[in-house]
Amino acid sequence: MNGTTHAVIGSTTGFVIANSLQTSPSVTLFLVGLGGVSGLMPDLDIDGKLRGKITLSHKVIQLSALIIGMMMAVYSFFEKAENERWLGIGIGFLVILIASLIKQRHMLTITGVAVLVGGFSLDELWLILLGIFIVMASFSSHRSYTHSIVGVVFFGCIAANLETTLGIKGVFFTCLGGYISHLLADLKILPVNKRGVKLFLPLSSKEV
Ligand SMILES: [Zn+2]
Repeated sequence: MNGTTHAVIGSTTGFVIANSLQTSPSVTLFLVGLGGVSGLMPDLDIDGKLRGKITLSHKVIQLSALIIGMMMAVYSFFEKAENERWLGIGIGFLVILIASLIKQRHMLTITGVAVLVGGFSLDELWLILLGIFIVMASFSSHRSYTHSIVGVVFFGCIAANLETTLGIKGVFFTCLGGYISHLLADLKILPVNKRGVKLFLPLSSKEV
């Protein structure tokens, strides 16, 4: 499945969850966007073989990183005060800047480190965890750990912390649902997929 398909399926998941919780229009819009981003997250592990080339996959990585930077800036603007606000916005823009330069995989590692630094500066556990996720994904082989149950649980921790911080109901289920929808769409049982996902890493590296 390509990035666009994953983003659309993730957004749809967010929309369904928003509807079932009967959220306000603005929260619905937010959950649709969040579902779309979550649906892209597992593919931050795109193959090292593509190193040095701008491919469609790299554009997906770049877009996800850009959105994360923007979310960080917007989040700091609304949720933080004074010094922390400007610090958060600054680091958010730094992430956007680094993301716009992503042509190679190591740039993703740097983006992750920037998110991590942002998380520590703002004292936000979800950002710290997200930074760790991005750094780990940049070192994982494609369709391995980010496409496993371990990945789902880790992302679930990020999502739970984000929901607590924002205090918006539906954030946890949207992130988790968007992420899981990606793994389902990558399963080998679907005829469009030549490869499956290593769902049971590290216990088994069998592709399903
Ligand atoms: Zn994938």
